[in-house]
Amino acid sequence: MYTNIKIVLVNTTHSGNIGGVARAMKNMGLSNLVLVEPKSFPSDEASARAAGADDLLTSAIVVSSLQEAVADCELVFGTSARERHIPWPILDPREMSGVVQQAKKADDEKTIAVVFGREDRGLTNEELHLCQHHVCIPSVQEFSSLNIAAAVQVIAYELRVAFLKMEDLKSLDAPKWGTSWDAPLATQQELELMFEHFESTMTKTEFLDPDNPRQLMTRLRRLLMRALPDKIEVNILRGMLTSISKKIDK
Ligand code: SAH
Repeated sequence: MYTNIKIVLVNTTHSGNIGGVARAMKNMGLSNLVLVEPKSFPSDEASARAAGADDLLTSAIVVSSLQEAVADCELVFGTSARERHIPWPILDPREMSGVVQQAKKADDEKTIAVVFGREDRGLTNEELHLCQHHVCIPSVQEFSSLNIAAAVQVIAYELRVAFLKMEDLKSLDAPKWGTSWDAPLATQQELELMFEHFESTMTKTEFLDPDNPRQLMTRLRRLLMRALPDKIEVNILRGMLTSISKKIDK
């Protein structure tokens, strides 16, 4: 997972939430937890909620101000459930992880912080102004505030997905689901032959009218391109087309 990403919690009131955050982080491979003046820490409740992620609690750093927590960070994101008076660039968690991915591509040592606020009133405007980007999880407006550990989970998940995608791109032929795919992707030429095969067979069954083809082939192409079919999958589809054609010929 990415290194040098800190999750910073400001003035957390309920120590159980600190444990919940540690667990959410560890699930997604994050390990640097920084606590700005927590109300009570360490605590049994935090350890209980961490459920096996107590190592993150043991290594957590406690500091006395947000400035101190983010001083060495090159990129700081502040999370907030609601819009503030002063407009600020607001990202959703996926856009945020895109920014992180770009930054890490340029320099994987880059130090990054994601800051989370108090359970009752979030981050102050002054605290948010220490952050280059504001991140908002697009929850429903009338009930927008997530539990802090749930908010950390959403952000950490998006960072994880972006990280795994970047790892996948390193191996050229990898489809989007991961590097352990069991067949290589079909080449462009194989796809073209498959589309020609679709066109001729569908014409034969009269599903496609060559005098009035509409958008059929374009839509089919878009669907199948989106799926990134591998060689075996293309062979299966073409095998089906051949079987239909044979049946008609009989
Ligand atoms: N009433 C507070 C909510 C605090 S919830 C407020 O309006 O800001 C505690 C923390 O969880 C928030 O400070 C923020 O860091 C995070 N959080 C909760 N819901 C969020 C959301 N929808 N988007 C981004 N962060 C959120």
